Amino acid sequence: MLVAILGGGQLGRMLALAGYPLGLSFRVLDPSPEACAGQVAPLVVGDYDDPGALARLVEGAAVLTYEFENVPVEAARAVGERVPVLPPPAALEVGQDRLAEKALFTELGIPTPRFLPVDGPEDLRRALAEIGPPVVLKTRRLGYDGKGQVVVRGSEAVEEAFARVGAVPCIAESYVDFARELSVLAVRGRDGSVLAYPLVENRHREGILRVSLAPAPGVTPALQARAEGYACAVMERLGYVGVLAIELFECQGELLGNELAPRVHNSGHWTIEGAETSQFENHLRAICGLPLGSTEPVGVSAMVNVIGRHVDPAAVLAVPGAHLHDYGKAARPGRKLGHVTVRADRLEVLLERLERMRALVEGG
Ligand code: AMP
Repeated sequence: MLVAILGGGQLGRMLALAGYPLGLSFRVLDPSPEACAGQVAPLVVGDYDDPGALARLVEGAAVLTYEFENVPVEAARAVGERVPVLPPPAALEVGQDRLAEKALFTELGIPTPRFLPVDGPEDLRRALAEIGPPVVLKTRRLGYDGKGQVVVRGSEAVEEAFARVGAVPCIAESYVDFARELSVLAVRGRDGSVLAYPLVENRHREGILRVSLAPAPGVTPALQARAEGYACAVMERLGYVGVLAIELFECQGELLGNELAPRVHNSGHWTIEGAETSQFENHLRAICGLPLGSTEPVGVSAMVNVIGRHVDPAAVLAVPGAHLHDYGKAARPGRKLGHVTVRADRLEVLLERLERMRALVEGG
């Protein structure tokens, strides 16, 4: 069975690597001839809305999926007439627009930071007055890893802040003094069955995910159930098939929805070694109509992103329980080049291994 993937980055690469043992084959589309998934699967080079490239991508494919959410929705819908597109384009549509995302959360009873649409400096002034400073101004579209967002502390800064994010449609959110960031990943099959992974604790710096801990320490069954309920509600509303991630803020015992990703997610990379079935395999099982695999954790895991600078494999692999994933990309500042997952049977041991790993990956 041939799976076509829009996007040839590391997520596409890890999907393919997870799918070969299931007997699946892959073709990926990416505008860059250097796309790293092209090292492990046939690559069609072209724009995501180029009809010729899309036709070549899906020729003979049983299903089309995507590894990032900024695929043009119209192009996905058009291809959908030839081959099933999963997750459905409706999920792409929501995932591309922070306002639509927050509106969906609200409609489903998922709490969020207070938010208001902002289409100009006047709206931002009003949002500051209504929500109270500081607020986070975020572009509705094309923001990721903290790009396209700025914290606004007072009304004297509104003109400059709006200009800084590019004077495009935005939302303003209350700045949340959260205890920590969590994410929930869940998978829904074609038959509507749903499984969720344990909540993950995520640590960001400069807007980029650095470390994930899974299962997140100190999560009560009630908190886990609440997060799963949120993921289920979103998936059911969207007729979702595949893996979905929701990023959350834990704040005074509450979970606030920050954003959703209609795809496999960086905070789920630990599942390759740290869960009975990885997020990549489960995404493929779901979209191919196969039974889902258990999402139970295997011990405890920490994932460290390798960003901007390659690591020495020998040093990394000398840490017990370490697994290196190099994405085959050239080094560039701020670029995700790989990740390392460290596993252990006990949290105490894991944290000690994680410190060693962080020193290796992030140290000078
Ligand atoms: P995002 O692109 O929305 O995931 O934001 C990137 C990071 O910025 C998040 O992971 C948080 O660390 C931080 N952030 C985003 N929104 C807020 C908020 N409303 N309050 C406080 N921090 C935020």
